[in-house]
Amino acid sequence: MGYNKSMKRKAIPLFFALPFVLTGCHIDSPGKTEIPLERLKGKSYSFYSFTVPICVALYADFSDIAEAERTRKTVEEVKSLFLEIENSLSVSVETSAIARFNRAAAGEKVTIDEISYTVLGIAKKMYDLTGGAYNPAVGMSVDLWGFTPRFQGDYEPTEPYDREVNGEGKFYSLPDENYISAFASLSDFGEVEIWEENGAYYAKKPKQSVTIDGVSYSMRLDLGGIGKGYAADEGAKLLRERGYDYGYLNVGSSSVALLKSVKQETDYAWNFGFRHPRDKGNYLELSLKDETSSTSGDYENFYVLNEVRYSHIIDPSTGRPYSSDLITATVYGLPAAEADALSTAILILGREKALALLDEKFPSVSYAMVGEEGDLLTLSTNFETYRLLDQNMEIEDENV
Ligand code: ADP
Ligand code: MG
Repeated sequence: MGYNKSMKRKAIPLFFALPFVLTGCHIDSPGKTEIPLERLKGKSYSFYSFTVPICVALYADFSDIAEAERTRKTVEEVKSLFLEIENSLSVSVETSAIARFNRAAAGEKVTIDEISYTVLGIAKKMYDLTGGAYNPAVGMSVDLWGFTPRFQGDYEPTEPYDREVNGEGKFYSLPDENYISAFASLSDFGEVEIWEENGAYYAKKPKQSVTIDGVSYSMRLDLGGIGKGYAADEGAKLLRERGYDYGYLNVGSSSVALLKSVKQETDYAWNFGFRHPRDKGNYLELSLKDETSSTSGDYENFYVLNEVRYSHIIDPSTGRPYSSDLITATVYGLPAAEADALSTAILILGREKALALLDEKFPSVSYAMVGEEGDLLTLSTNFETYRLLDQNMEIEDENV
C-alpha cells in the first residue's frame, strides 16, 4: 500500500528543509510542540569523514549558553569518534590496522586495534549470514577495478595491474583477465582468523598468495561496505548517551541513524527521502525514527566503458563489479553496520535471492529495492507505508 501517487516529485537543493534529510544537512525549527520540545531548536553541523560529508542534526535549547556549548562539544566528540574509526579501518590511512593487515605477508599475524577487531567480527557475521555475498576480502579486486581511494583525485598508474587513463581520468580498457581471476581467488574471508589474547587483538592473514609476472599478491581487506554504518551506530550511541533524543546522523548517502523528529503530527518520525538511482531528486519517502537505515546503489561510484556500467560493488564469486537486476537497496531495522553490509549483499544477490535471504535470515528487516530492466524500474518493498515519488516506477508489493 503506497501513499497517494499524485504527490509531486520534488528536486533536492543542496540544503533543504525537512522532510528531506538524506542528502542534506539542514534542520527546521520545531513546530508547535509541547514542553519541553518547544524550547528546542534544531541545528546541523557538517564535517568530512570516510571521504563523504557527515551531518549531525540536533535539537537543543540553544538559548541556554551552557547547553549550546555542550551541544557543540558533543558534535566535536562525534567527529573525533568518526576520525578514530576511520583511522582504524581505512585502507588509505597507512597506519590503520586494516592497511597494516593489507601490507602484511601471506600467513602473517598482525596486531590490530579494538575497533577493527569489533568491525571484523560484525563483518564475519554478515559474511556468514549473506552466504559470502558481503565479503570484505575483495580488497584486491576493489583496487584492480579502480575503486580504492587512490583513484580519487590525481591517479597515476603505479601497480603492475594498473590501467592507463585518458585526459579526463577515465579508463580506456578493462583490467587484465589474469588479474581478475587471480585476485578473485584471494577473497576467502572465512580463512581470516581474528582473536583476542591478554587484552590485545590479532588477525591472521590466510597463507594463500598468487604470483603474476614475478610479483606476489595476498589478500587485502576493504571495510568500505561496513565502516560508515559502524560509525553511524557508534555516533548515534554517543548522542543518546549525551541525552539527545531529537535529530539524526547522516553518513554520506550510505547510512543514517535517526533519533526522533520534533513533529508530533508525524508521531516524531522523520520523513526521509531516498535518492533516485537514475534521475535527479528522490524516488521514495519513508517515515522513520529511532532506528538506522543503510542504502547501497550502483550509482554511487561507477564508470561506464563500452556502454557497460562498472560499479564499486564487487561480486566475490567473479571478482568483477556486480551485475544483477538490482540497482539500489535500502534496509531498515538493523544496526547500521549490519544494514550497510546487507544492502551491499542484496545488490549482488539480485532480487530473487535477496528476497529469499531476507525472508529466511532477516524476517524483521524492512527493505526497499529497485530493479532495472531496460528503461523499466521496479520497486519491491515490505514497508507498509511509503511514498513513491517516481510516477513511472512499477511496484511489486511482496508482503501485502
Ligand atoms: P557505500 O560505500 O556507497 O556506502 P556500500 O555500502 O555498498 O557503498 O559499500 C561498497 C564498498 O564496499 C565498496 O566501495 C568497497 O570498498 C566495498 N566492497 C565492494 N564489494 C564488496 C563486497 N562484495 N563485500 C563487502 N564489501 C565490498
Ligand atoms: Mg554503505
